[in-house]
Amino acid sequence: MKTVKRSIPLFAVLLLTAASLIITSCSRIRVYKHAGLLKDIPLNIIVVGQREPEWDRVNSFVNEKVSLFDHRDEKSPLFELNRTGRAKLPPELYATMKEALAIARKSGGAFDPTIYALTRAWDFDHGGRLPGKGEIEKAKAHVDYKRLILDTGGIATLPEGFGVDLGGIAKGAIVDLLGDYLESMGYDEYLIEAGGDILVKGLKKEARWKIGIKHPRKLNEFMGIVSLGESNKRLAIVTSGDYEQYFEKDGVRYHHIIDPSTGYPARGLVSVTVIAGSCMEADALSTAAFVMGYEKGFEMIQKTDGVEGLFVMERGGSLSAEETESFPLPLYELKL
Ligand code: ADP
Ligand code: MG
Repeated sequence: MKTVKRSIPLFAVLLLTAASLIITSCSRIRVYKHAGLLKDIPLNIIVVGQREPEWDRVNSFVNEKVSLFDHRDEKSPLFELNRTGRAKLPPELYATMKEALAIARKSGGAFDPTIYALTRAWDFDHGGRLPGKGEIEKAKAHVDYKRLILDTGGIATLPEGFGVDLGGIAKGAIVDLLGDYLESMGYDEYLIEAGGDILVKGLKKEARWKIGIKHPRKLNEFMGIVSLGESNKRLAIVTSGDYEQYFEKDGVRYHHIIDPSTGYPARGLVSVTVIAGSCMEADALSTAAFVMGYEKGFEMIQKTDGVEGLFVMERGGSLSAEETESFPLPLYELKL
């Protein structure tokens, strides 16, 4: 009898202790925000957790990856590859290059990581310039992803005069790596945004993340808000558009996404927003679909599993949009 009588309150005490532990640990979960830089573009991070990440370490991690993926950086193997035609790539760069080649094949070369000769001619790093026709033809002859060879030992080779520019995929790849890094520090709910490329993991304290999609023509306005997030899952949303980097000459807009088949900025679309399971895939596919144009680009996105797209075009001065079936923002809610 005695034992039974004593065990009941003890059990209750244990339960109460467990409950209070859960309550105190829940109440300590906070939302931490950080504004940094990914090279020269704004980087915003939100994490949900019990303690604040060491942002200095996060900044160093990002800077190290930026340097690795930037062909202009003398420390990057891409700098060496473009200079000598051969370089050994560390695993994260190798994996990104492999994905870039896969998307180049999938898009029939609309996305091409060997776009370097053309991006150098257009020189958007310094605001952009209109190259002569001969210069474009010459550069075009030095763009062809089939000439970029990756061997299984991590060595990349390129013929003379060819070069790699991972600008259409690197931002997404770095954001994914930063996601891995945050997870290795114990964070399972976060949002990372780098110049419009967004990766979310899980939910923001049980609610979905609210993400604004920039209006392609009205600066500082959103054309819509998307709710994104699923417990324990990564989701990325990336937009490629003709409004990020461009110059105008004689009334023509020249922007930084180049069609390798013409050597000129891709025409036809204003923006493409892609949702995918990784930021790298969303980044490369949005650039690829933008170059392919509405018909082919839409078909490619529709055929790709786990990927949704929103396409905006301009005809006769007015904007219109189309989206794949499960894009999480109905067309009637779009403010164009
Ligand atoms: P942003 O960098 O503005 O987010 P994108 O992801 O679409 O836009 O990438 C544009 C960059 O991709 C260019 O600055 C250039 O470095 C590179 N690029 C341009 N055209 C192509 C192409 N056809 N295929 C692959 N990369 C490209
Ligand atoms: Mg891209």
